[in-house]
Amino acid sequence: MQLLIENIRELVTVNGGGRPFKTGKEMRDLGVIKDVCVFVEDGIIRWIGSTGAFGLSLNRDADVIDASSLVALPGFVDSHTHALFAGSREREFAMRAEGKTYQEIAAEGGGIASTVASTRATSKKELKKLTSKRLDSMMKHGTTTVEIKSGYGLDPDTEVKMLEAIKELADEHFMTIAPTFLGAHAVPSEYAQNKDAYVELVCEHMLPYVARKNLARFCDVFCEQGYFTLEESRRILERAKSLGLQLKIHADEFNAIGGTRLAAELGALSVDHLEHIQAEGIKALRGRETIAVVLPGVSFFLRNPYAPARALIDAEIPVAIASDFNPGSCMAFSMPLMMTIACTQMSLTPEEAICAATLNGAAALGLSSILGSIEVGKQADIILYDIPDYRYLAYHFGTNLVATVIKKGTILEFS
Ligand SMILES: [Zn+2]
Repeated sequence: MQLLIENIRELVTVNGGGRPFKTGKEMRDLGVIKDVCVFVEDGIIRWIGSTGAFGLSLNRDADVIDASSLVALPGFVDSHTHALFAGSREREFAMRAEGKTYQEIAAEGGGIASTVASTRATSKKELKKLTSKRLDSMMKHGTTTVEIKSGYGLDPDTEVKMLEAIKELADEHFMTIAPTFLGAHAVPSEYAQNKDAYVELVCEHMLPYVARKNLARFCDVFCEQGYFTLEESRRILERAKSLGLQLKIHADEFNAIGGTRLAAELGALSVDHLEHIQAEGIKALRGRETIAVVLPGVSFFLRNPYAPARALIDAEIPVAIASDFNPGSCMAFSMPLMMTIACTQMSLTPEEAICAATLNGAAALGLSSILGSIEVGKQADIILYDIPDYRYLAYHFGTNLVATVIKKGTILEFS
């Protein structure tokens, strides 16, 4: 299968120069090339060069796109989502509009517990159907790789049901999907008086099963007051590491209780949220390869402080942007929207936001050797936009500017 995208008005390569991610000032260098061709064969980018210099002969059935009025970017890598769930929480949204906080709503049985109840009550088949529709919509908005977490089961059966559904979707859907086990997302009500027993269940029953059945690549923990303490998070993550899973942590979202330091110490692939990261946390991340994943949509939606992404980038810490798409704290998955919020509320430049949503997002999933930039040898996940200039993407927010979605060299058609 061959595809030639010719006369591309502006190609934003986000070329990493062989490195898995960009830091500091490098994040502003997107490797933009004007009037260029990209040749793809069998889903892999084989050649990038100026229009007119393409010398290979094409097969008769090759696809050819004239992109003379289009801007090409790598498909977005959304490295933090909870996209598999049942039910919705617009009632809580209305309560928040009347002044209640996320924590107050959770204390009244809303929050994660309400999504847990509906996800437990929904079949795997139905969960897949709901999620597949969301994945279609994410792709239409330019996302070609997504991480999805479990964590709305909080019992062995439902956690496994979620991870099996995610695994089956990874096989059946065009989206590249990275599965994460998040059994320690919250303490289920059955264990409210006996949290130790739940941590034990996660460590000695759920994690070994997940690892044995190869149901997840990553293990994540919500390290936060009222959820899992630093010591409990350490126990769960060390167990996961011993079983061969890579680590992610929800850290410093409402309080800095040491999760960021733990992430650095354990060599976590990413540390996510960081709205309340302190100087000590920034120091712990300096010089490490742990990706700081910031989630602009959550702060926007909950009216919470933003993670200090500007300071993190200035400290040469690799920063990625993700949506955290979930029914409670961010019911949105548009990565261009996340970029707009990052630029307007977190003082990122459009270039930094693009790098954070592509190459650095891929690095947060350990996938940047094959995804996240438009380079020879990488998978051809390319989005064409009907815009005059790449900076227009985060600037013209609230609308979908995608013209064409190319996944592994295939032009996708959506019904
Ligand atoms: Zn999350």
